[in-house]
Amino acid sequence: MRQLDVEMMHPRVQIIKVISRIYRDGMTTTSGGNISILDDNGDIWVTPSAVDKGSLREDDIICVKKDGTIEGKHKPSSEFPFHKAIYEVRPDIKAVIHAHPPALVSFSIVREIPDTNIIPQAKEVCGKIGYAPYGLPGSQELGVSIAKQFDGSDVMAVIMENHGTVLGGADLMDAYTRFETLEFCAHTIINAKAIGEPALLSNEQIQQFEDQIPHDVARNSEVSYPSEERAIRQEIVDIVRRASDQGLMISSYGTVSVRWKDNDFLITPSHVARWDIVPDDIVQIKGGKAEEGKTPSRALALHQKIYELNPHINSIILTQPPHLMAYGTTGVKFDVRTIPESWIFLQDVPCLDFGAHFYGNDSIPNLLSESVPSVLIANDSFVVTGDKLLQTFDRLEVAEFSAKSLVMAAPLGKLVPINDEQVENLRKKFLS
Ligand SMILES: [Zn+2]
Repeated sequence: MRQLDVEMMHPRVQIIKVISRIYRDGMTTTSGGNISILDDNGDIWVTPSAVDKGSLREDDIICVKKDGTIEGKHKPSSEFPFHKAIYEVRPDIKAVIHAHPPALVSFSIVREIPDTNIIPQAKEVCGKIGYAPYGLPGSQELGVSIAKQFDGSDVMAVIMENHGTVLGGADLMDAYTRFETLEFCAHTIINAKAIGEPALLSNEQIQQFEDQIPHDVARNSEVSYPSEERAIRQEIVDIVRRASDQGLMISSYGTVSVRWKDNDFLITPSHVARWDIVPDDIVQIKGGKAEEGKTPSRALALHQKIYELNPHINSIILTQPPHLMAYGTTGVKFDVRTIPESWIFLQDVPCLDFGAHFYGNDSIPNLLSESVPSVLIANDSFVVTGDKLLQTFDRLEVAEFSAKSLVMAAPLGKLVPINDEQVENLRKKFLS
């Protein structure tokens, strides 16, 4: 994965950037959670012990030198022993994240590992997941039991019994993407269980998904960037970052595109962390050909066909919001007859089988219309369309809020939908 913004930054800066993001996303408390990076000198940069995660600064980060000397104004994290133990057994791991994010902690206290076959990319992104028995925090014993999971295996993440999780990465962004995706799987399974029973993808289905990356896209070598084209790039970047900040899109999945003129459009790339995206990453698609030197999203063909068959659609977002995916994984009908806003914005949201979005399958472009602006794809994503990108984004927010209210209503009682006559009145007043 390319991380133009982050990869070449000093370890102190990378750690601050990622720990702030984790704290803001509600995936660690002020006191819990620690991050480290092993640099090319063999020195380990690590978050300090007992310093507020919400206001950590670069000079709070500690450096534990290769020879064991400690440089910095605080003590290193009390959980440093297992960070060090992981680096010792796994030379391919250069960054470690440990935290107690709520959904993964739920799994750790019922002593289970979340199944990453719940969504298509998670098996590849998260890798193999180990399980370490309980140990006293900060103890050598806990370090040994965690290192044992990583040692001699290709395990990249471990559920720590009655504690939390620890994940490694080739660099810090790689570890972060794994962390966020694994927590998302756990969260989705929990939401799904509130309303039904989640289904899992088979390994064959996941392989079919992996094979969808467009390798042989026609290329356009004479690309020009008129001002209106550049404005769309910025608009896409702003919405992608906003969706990530609002918990509507995770780093490892999601595609946004905007029609430029006729059937030409701009689309997000494949393999770029969504919250780190910049205008230059966006791929121009002109006359069916992609801008040279960039890999467009694997949903390219789907977006192309939607624009061709639906002149009224000028922007598309494909993403995995955690409550909509509860509906996308259980087969339970996502009933939007909850409050007027939901029905007016979404009308009915059909759920299609996994694979409906694959190359050569036109069921989604054919199904979308003025009265069906969005669809769910089983175990994959939510696809929402509209005219202006901000309108499409608003529709995405309304959809996820509606799904969240429905999931939260599940323990309270049965949904009482608005009735047909009330729906007809909404149609007359708002949609005709
Ligand atoms: Zn901990």
